[in-house]
Amino acid sequence: MRTPIVIGNWKLNGTRAMADRLVADIEAVRPELKDIDIGVCPPFVYIPQVVAQVAGAGLGVGAQSCAEYDTGAYTGEVSAEMIRDVGCQYVLVGHSERRTLFGETNEVVGRKTQKALAAGLTPVVCVGETLEERQAGKMNAVVGAQIEAVVAAVGIQAFERVIVAYEPVWAIGTGQTASPEQAQAMHASIRAQLAAYSPAIAESVRIQYGGSIKPGNAAILFAQPDIDGGLIGGASLTAEDFLVICRAA
Ligand code: PGA
Repeated sequence: MRTPIVIGNWKLNGTRAMADRLVADIEAVRPELKDIDIGVCPPFVYIPQVVAQVAGAGLGVGAQSCAEYDTGAYTGEVSAEMIRDVGCQYVLVGHSERRTLFGETNEVVGRKTQKALAAGLTPVVCVGETLEERQAGKMNAVVGAQIEAVVAAVGIQAFERVIVAYEPVWAIGTGQTASPEQAQAMHASIRAQLAAYSPAIAESVRIQYGGSIKPGNAAILFAQPDIDGGLIGGASLTAEDFLVICRAA
């Protein structure tokens, strides 16, 4: 049995005060939310504050990205080692906004996944197709290539420590979520792809869905057999919405 995991991706949002309130509200309810893992990914600068706040509360903290380099002259970058050093457990890798707005290729995502694993972090590898790719019937090929690049970079065995997040680009921040059938079909396809390497790993790897998950649609998505929780953007910025979604997992 796979433990569902719900992670809040705050993106470029928040203040110290907002982080403090939001995390306190989640912590207050955390003991009621059994049998799921929960994480939050604040902007880098708020991570130490959140790590200190959640100590021992059963709440994981993650970064939204990491560098593909260890150290050196890479102005503005933050390494996986540093993220681990300040107490994070997770790091998002290859979010579609990173791929689209910051030019992260499949190969870069593979290298970042490798750095995250080497640092002892759990990478949440994000994959997903654009609307044009879906309309052209290419979604399985696109997502398949994204997964393949990560397998090539880190090997199938490393997927014991990898979480996959399927986030169709057309569903992110648009209010238009994938239907449960569309999401389930892609999750099953990803699992089948991994099963060709290792049936055991394919069975154990957690695959989150992301893209306009809201309190009203979370339960039906999470009820799909191959969906193991969610990566939540907009709805992770208020404790009320985020906790309804956590309860649905
Ligand atoms: P959204 O974002 O929930 O606001 O659509 C999800 C994500 O980008 O991780």
